[in-house]
Amino acid sequence: MIRIGGVLVSPGEGGVYGERMIGSYRVWDPRRSKLAALALLGSEIDLAPEMRVLYLGAANGTTVSHVADYVEVVYAVEFAPRPMQDLLEVCRRRRNIVPIMADAGRPERYAGIVEEVDLLYMDVAQPDQAGIALRNLRFLRKGGTLVLMLKTRSVDVTQSPQDVLEETVRTLTAGGLSIRETRWLEPYHRDHAAIVCEAIK
Ligand code: SAM
Repeated sequence: MIRIGGVLVSPGEGGVYGERMIGSYRVWDPRRSKLAALALLGSEIDLAPEMRVLYLGAANGTTVSHVADYVEVVYAVEFAPRPMQDLLEVCRRRRNIVPIMADAGRPERYAGIVEEVDLLYMDVAQPDQAGIALRNLRFLRKGGTLVLMLKTRSVDVTQSPQDVLEETVRTLTAGGLSIRETRWLEPYHRDHAAIVCEAIK
C-alpha cells in the first residue's frame, strides 16, 4: 500500500466521503477505516492489482472504495438497505466493485456470483463473527488471507475483549486457519482487534 510522508493513500478518483487528496491520491483515514488502521499500526497486510477480494460488511463503501483502488475486483456484501444505497453510488464511479445485497451469514445466496478470492475481508459486528467467517471460507483460495475485524463488544459484552479475541482465535484455528497476526486497533478503534489468518486447506 502506498504512503506519502507517512500518510496512507490509495490511487483513485476522490469525492467518495469527503476524503482529502494529495495530488491524485486519496488519503485513507485510519479513524474511518479499520483496514487503514491495521496497515498504519505495522501489519504486513498488502493489496495488489491482481487480487480478488470478498468484502463482508461493505456499509457505505468507505473502505471498499480504497480497496478497489488497489485490486482487480471487490465483491462487496451488505445487508442493510440504507448503506447499500450509498454503496451503489460508489459503484457507479468504480467499475471493479460488485455490490451484493445479502446476509453474509448465508453465503449460499451469493455462491453463484462470487469467484475464488485471494482475500476475504470481514467487518460485520455480529455476535457470530467467527462462524460467519468460516462459512465464507468456501470462496477463499488455499493460501489466501482472511482479515477479520473483530468487534469484541458485539460478541459478548460480559467477557473481557482479550478473552473474546482468544476464543475467536481458537474457533478460527479449529476451522482450518493458521493465525498470522492479531492486533488491537487502538488508538483508532476501541475494543476492536484485527485477526489475520491464512487458509491452509
Ligand atoms: N467495513 C465498513 C467500512 O470500513 O467502511 C464498515 C462496516 S460497519 C462496521 C458494519 C456493516 O456490516 C454495517 O453496514 C452492517 O449493516 C453490515 N452487516 C452486519 N451484519 C451483516 C451481515 N450478516 N451481512 C451483511 N452485512 C452485515
